[in-house]
Amino acid sequence: MLLAAVEYARPTSLADALAALGRSENARALAGGQTLINVMKARAAQPDLLVDLADVAELRGISESSGSLEIGAMTTYSQLMDSSDVFGTRPVLSRVAGEIADVQVRNRGTIGGNVCLSDPTNHFPPLMVSMNASFTIVGPSGERTVNAGEFFQGVYITAVEPGELLTKITIPPAQGDGFAAVTIGKDGTCIVNAAATRNGETRFAIGCVGAVPVTSLDDIDPPSDVHGSAEYRRHLAKILVDRAIAEAGG
Ligand SMILES: Cc1cc2nc3c(=O)[nH]c(=O)nc-3n(C[C@H](O)[C@H](O)[C@H](O)COP(=O)(O)OP(=O)(O)OC[C@H]3O[C@@H](n4cnc5c(N)ncnc54)[C@H](O)[C@@H]3O)c2cc1C
Repeated sequence: MLLAAVEYARPTSLADALAALGRSENARALAGGQTLINVMKARAAQPDLLVDLADVAELRGISESSGSLEIGAMTTYSQLMDSSDVFGTRPVLSRVAGEIADVQVRNRGTIGGNVCLSDPTNHFPPLMVSMNASFTIVGPSGERTVNAGEFFQGVYITAVEPGELLTKITIPPAQGDGFAAVTIGKDGTCIVNAAATRNGETRFAIGCVGAVPVTSLDDIDPPSDVHGSAEYRRHLAKILVDRAIAEAGG
């Protein structure tokens, strides 16, 4: 199905992007468009204004300092795969980026779009929680930082309010990470995934078993669907947490 008519803005600065978003209550940020455009074609979302973030330089770039990584929201999966800073400090991020879908999706899809979507089957939310990442959000009333544990609030719901933008993700140093998933076919949607990060103690988070990443195996109440029963997902969760922790060296 073709896109319905929609107003389009392509600002070149963060200030202009925020101003454009402020023009309509029904405006939406456009990152890689790998989900949003498909959802709009299906008429499941119909914003009246798309604010394309492609030319906003402040949202791009990766930097590393003393083991801490800062990743701009508009960083694509391909850029994560190619970054020596990412590969040198947190290689699991490069690997997981390379496991998402196909090369076309990886060239356009962004880490910011991935987390702002808050799809329970996406790869990055559990990693962000296990890594204890923090999210910088900017809006008309200024800048604030939200921890990953509070960022993901429900299916397709995050701490980013209308009129705000996620600008960057900060990942504190750690000693090791792991990620394990069972997917629908190679590089397909996750049925269950789990991430672990070792930094003295080992933290883990499980995806696909609740609305947001879950940090306790006792709390999971997974859905049943054509890809697996709740019982199967519970079984997978235990195994994948063990694998992720082993990879993290915990
Ligand atoms: C065939 C296919 C298979 C896929 N398989 C997987 C998979 O297995 N695992 C996986 O994790 N993902 C998968 N994806 C989804 C893909 O990772 C998307 O890239 C991602 O979900 C959204 O990123 P995007 O940059 O395309 O964001 P968009 O689609 O542009 O935006 C998504 C949402 O985030 C909001 N948003 C984006 N950036 C910001 C920002 N900086 N601040 C505030 N709001 C923002 C948008 O307004 C929109 O609501 C797949 C996609 C396709 C097409």
